[in-house]
Amino acid sequence: MKILQNFINGVWRDPQGTSLLEVVNPATEEVVAQFGCGSSDDVDRAVDAAGDAQAAWAARPVAERVEHLSRWAAAIAEHAEELAELECQEMGKPVGLGRTFIDTAVRGFTTAAEEALQYPFVEDIPGPGGSNTTIVRNPVGVAAVITPWNFPVPMVLAALGPILAAGNTVVVKPSERSPMSIARLFELSTLPAGVVNLVLGDSRAGAPLTEHNRIRLVHFTGSVEAGRRIGSETGGRLCRSILELGGKDPVVVDAGVDPVATAGAVAFGAFANTGQICTSMERIYVHHEVAEAFVEALAAAASTFALGDGHDAGTVLGPLVDERQRTIVHRHVTDAVAGGAHIRCGGEIPEGKGFFYPATVLTDVDDSMLVMTEETFGPLAPVVVVSSFEEGIERAGGSRFALGATVYTNDPAHAAAAAAIPAGVTWINQWQGGGPERLYEPAGESGMGATGARAAYDAATRPATIHTARPAALPVS
Ligand code: NAD
Repeated sequence: MKILQNFINGVWRDPQGTSLLEVVNPATEEVVAQFGCGSSDDVDRAVDAAGDAQAAWAARPVAERVEHLSRWAAAIAEHAEELAELECQEMGKPVGLGRTFIDTAVRGFTTAAEEALQYPFVEDIPGPGGSNTTIVRNPVGVAAVITPWNFPVPMVLAALGPILAAGNTVVVKPSERSPMSIARLFELSTLPAGVVNLVLGDSRAGAPLTEHNRIRLVHFTGSVEAGRRIGSETGGRLCRSILELGGKDPVVVDAGVDPVATAGAVAFGAFANTGQICTSMERIYVHHEVAEAFVEALAAAASTFALGDGHDAGTVLGPLVDERQRTIVHRHVTDAVAGGAHIRCGGEIPEGKGFFYPATVLTDVDDSMLVMTEETFGPLAPVVVVSSFEEGIERAGGSRFALGATVYTNDPAHAAAAAAIPAGVTWINQWQGGGPERLYEPAGESGMGATGARAAYDAATRPATIHTARPAALPVS
């Protein structure tokens, strides 16, 4: 069993807090790590270390900061398999899947950091009569990055690239359910002391961090409930926050598509990472003309998602992160069945150790059921048959969440109509993907703050304007 520590000012330290937390392997239910929950003293130390290191980090030339980050990225890439193994132990993700996402995240981190080389940190705009306006985009200072457990390493890397490359320093507070991979990530850091700091713990470590006066940006990824609390706290002290919260993403399947191929794609969208993705497909609206064939193919595809320990090569579907998460998932199934839904496959808790839950397809679902209104974060595919594509689009937009959406159609007019779904990202005829130019802001309860592309740099910097009139315009004394 591992004992984990905080990383403050380049040194590994035991936390001051006395409350002990455990990491449980969700496939075996064994305790695999222990650590003390960070206290407000630990947070103070980490924020002070970041604050003290910030001016020197920001004073380095941009290219030097990017070079530092590229070196860290190279070390992470070299250890991607080991990090994926640790993610598997702490939250159950199959190692192969974790590896794929970590590789992608490292490339994204590097691309995002290199964007700094193009970003207009200082911009001169000549004005009339020889005047000049200079816009300087300064780092905001010290940032807090708070992350969930569903993609431990990718979530941290996605937040850190632009924040660090822009000249900020950081305190990271990862999920208490997945701290092992993040501790290893920090061991691989070759950044100057104090630039990145790590405090482990649950909300008792997270809250003092978001409340700390020296924190000028909070980048939070997690639940709506915690996001609301953090948003109101940071708002109260006029601190900027980016809130990336939950989702209940719809998928609309049009008439005329290949039902079998589309069902295969939807199965992946609903079940990948055991459904624990903020943009998992959680509401499926299918045109009645293809519904029967689609549901049959979806159930067949679900049966190929072999349950097991993520360390086994044959495993496609790892366990849920913990018993609490499995209870939520099963409650959504039993509520739907009580309301008249039918289970086409899955829907039962397997016997034995581990927090496993099978890929489950539900039909005869309606929009009032928990499985259609609350985020499930589990391997459920609830299907609603609609009488027209337009009805599908309208019902897809009827959620209080607005994170992502997916539409499968062969009709160009219908593809264009997909833009009516309120979502940060809408995918047409694929799920996930898109280049680094992706730019979006979630809506509704899915959060706030634009991210992606240059917006991440805009969020990590504060613009100031210096306007200079030409000397002759000065009054003569
Ligand atoms: P969570 O809100 O319980 O925890 C997220 C992080 O916040 C953890 O590190 C936790 O310790 C910390 N935290 C909790 N309460 C806090 C508080 N009051 N102050 C400061 N920190 C606090 O969420 P979770 O269960 O870890 O993650 C799952 C959720 O994350 C889902 O809702 C999922 O949709 C969402 N998510 C969103 C995105 C996105 O990009 N929108 C990506 C991944 C996950």
